[in-house]
Amino acid sequence: MTEILFDTLQLAKQLIAHRSITPNDAGCLSLIASRLSAAGFHCERMDRGVVGNLWARYGSAGPLVCLAGHVDVVPPGPVDEWRSDPFTPTERDGELYGRGAADMKGSVAAMVTAAERVVRAGGGGSIAILLTSDEEGDAVDGTAALVSILRARGVTIDACIVGEPTSTERFGDTIKNGRRGSLNGRLRVRGQQCHIAYPERGRNPIHDAAPAVAALVVTEWDRGNEYFQPTSFQISNIHAGTGASNIIPGTLDVAFNFRFSPESTAPVLQARVREVLDRHNLQYDVEWTLIGEPFLTRRGPLVDALIASVESVAGVRPALSTSGGTSDGRFLATLAREVVEFGPLNDSIHKIDEHVRIGDLEPLSVIYERALRSLFDFL
Ligand SMILES: [Zn+2]
Repeated sequence: MTEILFDTLQLAKQLIAHRSITPNDAGCLSLIASRLSAAGFHCERMDRGVVGNLWARYGSAGPLVCLAGHVDVVPPGPVDEWRSDPFTPTERDGELYGRGAADMKGSVAAMVTAAERVVRAGGGGSIAILLTSDEEGDAVDGTAALVSILRARGVTIDACIVGEPTSTERFGDTIKNGRRGSLNGRLRVRGQQCHIAYPERGRNPIHDAAPAVAALVVTEWDRGNEYFQPTSFQISNIHAGTGASNIIPGTLDVAFNFRFSPESTAPVLQARVREVLDRHNLQYDVEWTLIGEPFLTRRGPLVDALIASVESVAGVRPALSTSGGTSDGRFLATLAREVVEFGPLNDSIHKIDEHVRIGDLEPLSVIYERALRSLFDFL
């Protein structure tokens, strides 16, 4: 076993053995901070309540390249369905099993060992490692909080790599260079309740809303762009009625979600929804919750450095993708000039028997290392 693999595998196992279910870091961050301090990093905890946050920095010269991620994991689910205990790291058939192995303690271990090697070798630039224990939960006191503290200090990050598991079929096949935004809406259409035998005495919100809902469903919000699929509108819940068959209900509730490309903005989508509802003469209220803004990192120094590193180490030319749910990349993109995500296979994440291929840990660490080095040269 090479030293890189030994180091990375050992650290991944140590992290898995800490039961860091969101929002608890369960000691993961102290473990990492003590390693990084020994390597010469200046480590600061920026905890918020029970959420653990770590900002570790080496060097003060530019450019500043940040490796970011989370040490929290989703709950294991029914433990007796696991072939081995989810918090006892177990090697089997070339895989390392344990909750968080792929999402994303394997990546965190690879980032730490990559940063240690880059620091040991010396050279220009500064490295930061940003970690939280609140990514899988509300994500309020984690990366978002860290970013606002750093912004208040005037810190700017030149390039940031998030270690989310992005590979889909084969290790190295996918880099995420952006994510769609997410916007939730809760629509209440008001009618007037009455006996169903006397519809003229009330107003049926289901009948009022149906054509408006149909119009929303067929609306083309945008056409996406070369990096993004078109914005999608989906209804998640719809409810009206009391359960009785002789009552016209007084209200109808519709919950919906936009996954939107940077070709649309939340205010524009909101205005367009209201325009459709007004056109259908509905009496209504809508409550909006913006879950995340979209972000996009176009082809440039970071994307090119990472593609070259992946190609040279994994022998695969990675595709750029902006699919999937939101990530902490949306917060980092407000502080960093460029943000991308790259990590191991994601087929087992959040599942029973989560695992990462042991043979992918060393290439992963070497990819982060090479990306750091080439960014120091090119930025
Ligand atoms: Zn994750």
